[in-house]
Amino acid sequence: MKLILLGAPGAGKGTVAKLLTALDGSVQISTGDILRGAVQAKSELGLEAEGYMTRGDLVPDSLIMGIMEKRLQEPDCAKGFLLDGFPRTIPQAEELTQLLTRLDIKLDMVVEIDVPRDILLDRLCTRRTCENPKCQSIYNITSNPPKVVGICDKCGARIVQREDETEMAITHRLETYNEKTAPLVGFYREKGLLVSVPATSSDDVIKAIKAKLNL
Ligand code: AMP
Repeated sequence: MKLILLGAPGAGKGTVAKLLTALDGSVQISTGDILRGAVQAKSELGLEAEGYMTRGDLVPDSLIMGIMEKRLQEPDCAKGFLLDGFPRTIPQAEELTQLLTRLDIKLDMVVEIDVPRDILLDRLCTRRTCENPKCQSIYNITSNPPKVVGICDKCGARIVQREDETEMAITHRLETYNEKTAPLVGFYREKGLLVSVPATSSDDVIKAIKAKLNL
């Protein structure tokens, strides 16, 4: 399947993407994971992106488009992909439309995961992430803690609170979402691609996607 997952930070895009990959081998492409990996590796991309990310600002569209143009042409995307955290602005969405046309790729749909703000805030404040850039598994200290406190169940690395998950940065990220990313809902509705799922559980989102795709 070829999907875009839209939704505010904390809506569960990453969790839904991981569950969907198990259905048909489509790959999850998370621009946030790619950028965090680059920051840890101290690569040129990471050094450019770090300041924006720590503040909870979006990194410039040109950096993101460079990453995505390469990533979408890697062989593992042939089976399908789940775009998680991209596009995040109207210019990114417009460039993505052109890129997909050039690569002769057709999207199945764009899924908006719509979660109330109080739930988003609570999830983000209690979310913890594995610091291993190759793993980046997500936990929640109240609803989904690791078996051993502070240690990732999957790879044994430390789990940490992301620098952009302080209360101030979270508030800013949600404002940025409303201002820059929420307009994509209208953009994709006009193209007839939007499916909006008002949901607080990933299972509900998966059910809705499977129903739409007849899986
Ligand atoms: P995420 O893990 O998707 O919440 O992304 C974490 C941070 O990475 C965001 O707050 C942005 O600073 C940056 N980021 C991720 N994806 C994008 C994107 N498509 N455009 C701009 N910045 C992005």
